[in-house]
Amino acid sequence: MNERETLKINDKGHLEIGGADTVELAGKFGTPLYVFDEKYIRGMMRVYKHTIDSDYDGNGMALYASKAFSCMAMYKIAQSEGLGVDVVSGGELYTAIKAGFPAKNIFMHGNNKLLNELTYALDNNIGTIVVDSYREADIIDRLAADRGITQNVLIRINPGVEAHTHAFIQTARTDSKFGFSVSDGTAESITAYILSKKSLKLRGYHCHIGSQIFEKQSFVLAVDKVMDFMANIKQATGFEADMLNIGGGFGVWYNDEDPKLKFSDYAGYLKALIAEIKKKSSLHGLKLPYLLLEPGRSIVGEAGITLYTVGAVKDIPGIRKYVAIDGGMFDNPRYALYQSKYTVLLANRAAEKCTERVTVAGKCCESGDLIAVDVPLPEAESGDIMAVLTTGAYNYSMASNYNRNLVPPAVLVNDGRADLIIKPQTYEDLVRSDIVPERLK
Ligand SMILES: *Cc1c(COP(=O)(O)O)cnc(C)c1O
Repeated sequence: MNERETLKINDKGHLEIGGADTVELAGKFGTPLYVFDEKYIRGMMRVYKHTIDSDYDGNGMALYASKAFSCMAMYKIAQSEGLGVDVVSGGELYTAIKAGFPAKNIFMHGNNKLLNELTYALDNNIGTIVVDSYREADIIDRLAADRGITQNVLIRINPGVEAHTHAFIQTARTDSKFGFSVSDGTAESITAYILSKKSLKLRGYHCHIGSQIFEKQSFVLAVDKVMDFMANIKQATGFEADMLNIGGGFGVWYNDEDPKLKFSDYAGYLKALIAEIKKKSSLHGLKLPYLLLEPGRSIVGEAGITLYTVGAVKDIPGIRKYVAIDGGMFDNPRYALYQSKYTVLLANRAAEKCTERVTVAGKCCESGDLIAVDVPLPEAESGDIMAVLTTGAYNYSMASNYNRNLVPPAVLVNDGRADLIIKPQTYEDLVRSDIVPERLK
């Protein structure tokens, strides 16, 4: 599949995604609407799976980082593509289990996993837990002992590589709420601690160096450092890790400041990583570890768009023009959170030239509720359908009911066919948890 075919402009001048006319989707399902292209999602999952199969003898598994977009349909797709998943909360775990996802292929993360989340995980025979604190090691050990089992665990470490979108820096001591640092010896201490626990089975290490990264060398350097650490641990304690989880973080295209990677480029990242693992294993005389990676954004990011309807258009002469939409930070808080950049277009006039620069504003009572600032667009009119691209990751999963707006539904398209995978909320949903105590009645 040529992945860039996910979006195209049809002969009506409408934007199409996965063979479905977005103007028709907006008409049928209403706006705002999240739309996901199933073929793109599956295509990306296959890139990772096939690369592990071809370049690493299938000695590993790609885990879909479900925090990017968690819903039952996504777990079904991941399962059918032979992926595992990672979850970071009891809620994500519950969703995966509800979808029938095999627990043995679920990895659990989090810097402060709650007792009830860990209990729930062990009650459901979760495959592996990535330990991030001493307290957690104690809790898991006790829960496993109570059940007469040994629990597979990894340790999250900070190898001293911190990656940013187009660069990386090496840090001596990582100031992070996540993980145990290699450089200050804490990663080695927790290793010894976990090895001493009867009901924990230490399988190896996990690291995640950041997100939205394009620099291949960042990943290679992280592998390098982790494998050096594994060799040191083997020498110091005799423990040889048989699993290496290198996290997620492959970047995606949001606007023209970002490269547009092909499926083969993502395979290239993984191949570079695998080459480094092989090199380091033979250098240090370590056995090749079972490889795990946790791509989230790169699987669903570009697979998704959000459709809106243009409402108020406010031109402030000499200052800027605001084009307001029927969504905003409640369905996409990423501009408000980190000034993320997006590409927008008019889905019903997708072939028209852009003639002006506008700021796309949401409908929330916050001046910072914007989606894109100073972006090119044809002259938008009330009633136009706007598409915001690359909203598949960290949009729905970060949505809220702020201002008691309704979280939009999501549809999955494939060859022109569209199915709801998240149904629309109703006003009734908003008051479902509200209680009016007797004395207020
Ligand atoms: C966020 C995260 C991921 C996924 O990162 P992407 O940038 O979406 O690929 C994977 N692993 C861990 C531990 C994470 O925190």
